[in-house]
Formats: sequence, structure tokens, C-alpha cells
Amino acid sequence: MLLQSDASARHFKQFLGKTVRCLQNLSSNRARRTLPKRTFREHPVNTGKGNVFMAQNRVLVLSEKKEPLMPCHPARARQLLSQGHAAVWRRFPFTIVLTQPTTSHAQPLRLKVDPGSRTSGLAVVATFKRGQTCVFAAELQHRGQAIKEALQKRRGVRRSRRYRHTRYRKPRFQHRKRRKGWLAPSLESRVQNVVQWAKRLRRWMPLTALSMESVRFDMQRLENPEIEGVEYQQGTLCGYEVREYLLEKWKRKCFYCDATEIPLQIDHIVPRSKNGTDRVSNLTLACARCNQEKGNQNAKTFLAKQPEKYKALMAKAKASLSDAAAVNSTRLASRERLCGLDVPLEVGSGGQTKYNRSVQEYRKTHWLDAVCVGVSGENVRVDFAQEVLEIRAMGRGSRQMCSVDQYGLRSARLPRVVFPRTGAKARQKKVYGFQTGDMVEAVVPKGKKAGRYVGRVAVRSTGSFNIKTRSGTTQGISYKHCRLLQHTDGYAYTRRHDGDQSPLAKSSIPD
Ligand SMILES: [Zn+2]
Repeated sequence: MLLQSDASARHFKQFLGKTVRCLQNLSSNRARRTLPKRTFREHPVNTGKGNVFMAQNRVLVLSEKKEPLMPCHPARARQLLSQGHAAVWRRFPFTIVLTQPTTSHAQPLRLKVDPGSRTSGLAVVATFKRGQTCVFAAELQHRGQAIKEALQKRRGVRRSRRYRHTRYRKPRFQHRKRRKGWLAPSLESRVQNVVQWAKRLRRWMPLTALSMESVRFDMQRLENPEIEGVEYQQGTLCGYEVREYLLEKWKRKCFYCDATEIPLQIDHIVPRSKNGTDRVSNLTLACARCNQEKGNQNAKTFLAKQPEKYKALMAKAKASLSDAAAVNSTRLASRERLCGLDVPLEVGSGGQTKYNRSVQEYRKTHWLDAVCVGVSGENVRVDFAQEVLEIRAMGRGSRQMCSVDQYGLRSARLPRVVFPRTGAKARQKKVYGFQTGDMVEAVVPKGKKAGRYVGRVAVRSTGSFNIKTRSGTTQGISYKHCRLLQHTDGYAYTRRHDGDQSPLAKSSIPD
């Protein structure tokens, strides 16, 4: 016991002692690891594939008056539940409600959000005496593409219907107006997902602050390098902002050969050896091969045989990106709506996130990006094998009467008729008490499908359901074997653990 606490004290000292070091250069000279490799004790968790080590998310706790309390350790929650001092309130994310009044001490809790186009990262970071620690990690998957496809389908149906009705319809579009701040439905859904989860987590946790990555790069910082003090002038943080800016400006590809999806280097148009400056207007992106080929040549000599390309290079290099490119519409909208939650909001830039992530040597995942958002993301302890709650936006089902393809015709797999004229589908939303989207546990005792399934159910009026688990969909599971875990709330949940991959391991995803 003594040994253990000694070891943890040593880790703690290491953790405090090493401050954020400056990177001399953009690509080389990585900062040394600032965190001990393993931060917490790990618990073996049975995932069906044998025991694995996973640090579970903290359990959310509500008081007997349904007020949020400090999230507790899973072991503590098990104790409370077995002693009858608490009951299960929700399964996903796991939340308990206390049965008796208690006094509790709350530490500052910060919800951090990294909004993405397909997936947004969510992380809750607590400030304990030992430092900032990530206590809850989740990734929120949006359904932008699904919404777009559904709307296209609807448009097809309506178009085909209007075509059939041959009477003249007056155009109706000219008096239709879009309100200010209107977003396309697919984008709007992303914003609403993020805001809804911020609101939910605030209801279940005593959040004291919010952070979100709002801009890709900080225009202010690019233009006024003085504003951020010494570290900035030494070119560390500045470098990250410049990098993000260049990636955006040059569309993430090598200017010379148009290669994408490969590591890109910053290329000086007029090389530094020929008195070229470090100003953004003298920089472009090149792949390693092109950069080497160019060597210390001037871009003009390098592109001597392609005068058009050189012209394009110079024109683009001189032009500056507008402010609009730094902030996209969804991020701006999310930020405005999160401001309305009356919890103090910290706003970070993409450059800052990347800087924090590489100084702490974390992998690139959505939730780790969220951990690293903003100035508060500089020193955050993350568990070795942190569990991540995957939250997938699923919508709440369809009200469509008959299935059609994108041209408004019945799907090809159905018997083809001239028009999609079918009667209203018998709309039975609940079957034997279950509804599509409910999270269920099914235990099939025998037969081909014998086993335990936990996942999202799709009901069939026959009572033979489909269950979608992490490993795939199993069809034809009787309602008799199912037990309801949680009613549908528009999201599907899976618990993911990145296995033995430490958050510190290097990423295989190019930035
Ligand atoms: Zn190239």
C-alpha cells in the first residue's frame, strides 16, 4: 500500500514538474512526454471477447431531488446500488439516482466539445487537487448525410406527384423566405445534436464551464503576433495556427503535384536561403518529394516550364483567406447557441487544439481532440484505456407511407407498378411494448442464435425483432427474449474501448 502511494506521489510530482515545453520547429523536435504512461488503476471488463482493461467513464449521479451531483467512480456506484442507496436512472450514459438526501462536494467540471462534420468529440474534464483529469469521454456521430438523402427522396416523391397532377400550379417559391441564421437541415441537425448533448450533460452533471473549438485558426493571432506573449513570438503556437491556415488555404494538397492524403510540408515560395520571408504570403504546401525536388530553387525557376502554374501560385499566395473561411457556419451557430446556456464558454482554435495534442503526445481521435480544446486543454490527464461512449444520432423513425427510390418510384426490390400508389402502411409503432430504437438486452437460451445481445432493436409486427449490436445485426430474435434497457431517445449507444492502444500512441490518421 505504502509502495503504491509512493509510486503515485512520484508520478504526481513528474506530472506537475514538467511544464509545457516549446517546440522549436513545426515538424521536428517533439516535446517530451509530460504525463506518466498509466495514470489510474485499471479494471478488467468483460466485453464478450474475454477480459480487457478499460477505464470506464465515471457514473453520473443525480440527487434524490434529481439535481446533478459530482460523477462517481463505477466502483462507488456499484456499492451504492447494492446497498440500496441508489437506483439506475439511465443506462446510456450510465446514471444513478440517490434514494436519500446527501451532502456532496463538487469540483469544477468542464465540458469540452470539438465539433466535427461527421463526428463531434465530447469530453468532461474535472479539476481535482492532482490536476485536470478527463472523467467522461464520448463521441457523437451526426446523421447529416442521412438527412440529405431523406430530403432528396422526399423531393423526388413530390416532384413525381406534381408531374402526375397535370393542372397548372402557380410557382410558390418566390414568396418563400429563409429566416436569418437558417442552416441547411443536415447542418442544423449537427448543431442541434451538439447543443442537445451539452444541455443533457448539464442536466446530469454540475458543469461549471464549457469549451469548444470554434475556429480552425485564429486570424487575430496570425495578424498580430504580439498578442500572445513570449511563447507565441517564439513561434510555437504561431506555427500551429499558420499550419492550419495553410492547410485550409491550399486545400490540403501539394500545390506542385496535387497529391492529397499524404503528409504535407510547408514550402517557401522564395526559399529562405534566397532571403525569402516566413510570412504567410510566401508559404505554400508541398509533398516531401516535390519539396525535395524544388530544393533551394525559387518557385519561378522550379516552375519555369509551367508559367501558368506559377501565375496561379503567385495569385493565390498573395490573396488572403477571408474571415469566413476560419469559422464555418455550423461552428458559429453552435457557439452562439452554447453561449445561451449561461455557463461560461471558452473558445479555442484548431491550431491550439493541435498544439495541445502534440505537446501531450495524444493520438488523434475526436474525444482526445475535445480534451485538448482551448487553453484549458494544455495539461489534462487521460487514462491509459479510457472507455468512450459512442453516441449515434439515429432520428426518430419515419412517417413515410410507402418506400420509394430517389425518383419517387417504388423501390426496385418491390413489385414495380406504374405509380407509387399504396394504401397507408399499418402504423404500429409499438410491438409487444418495444419500439424501434429502444436499447434492449436479449438472452437467447438455445438454438442457432443462442447468446446475449445488447443493442438497438428494430421491431417487426410479427414479434421477431432485429438487434443491432457493435458486431453486426442479428435478425429474427423473438420479443420473448428481450428486456428493455432504455427507451429510444433518437440516439444509439455503444461502449467502445480502444483496447491496448494508449492515448499516447501515435496516430495512423494523417492530420
Ligand atoms: Zn507534390
